[in-house]
Amino acid sequence: MPHPLSAKRHQRFREAVFRRDHGLCTLCGLDCGRLQAVLDSDLYRYHYNEIRKILREHGLPAPARGYRVWQIDHVVPITRGGRTLLSNLRLLCLTCHKAVTKDLKKQLVTVPDKIRDLEINRAHGQS
Ligand SMILES: [Zn+2]
Repeated sequence: MPHPLSAKRHQRFREAVFRRDHGLCTLCGLDCGRLQAVLDSDLYRYHYNEIRKILREHGLPAPARGYRVWQIDHVVPITRGGRTLLSNLRLLCLTCHKAVTKDLKKQLVTVPDKIRDLEINRAHGQS
């Protein structure tokens, strides 16, 4: 899906959400700002595999070098009419964002079933 925002506007939203949420994942509370600082340091360069292993063992995001440990998420997804407003955005660590996105996809898979149920109900004279 193409991103509806320009890169510059997107960046502004990212910064505003990060500030408002104090760099914390709004689901698990991970201090993404602190973790990012570690991953941006030389320590991560020299001990890349060891640090990634520790992060994974603790269920924490372990992105490749140069990538962020957090993303902004739409509370009400765009696919459900959610808008890109500060009030509908939240900071999530990569791990939580992945889980939320997976759940959403799982829910969307059931949409054809729900539509089919509507057809069946209509056939039986219910509305
Ligand atoms: Zn999280």
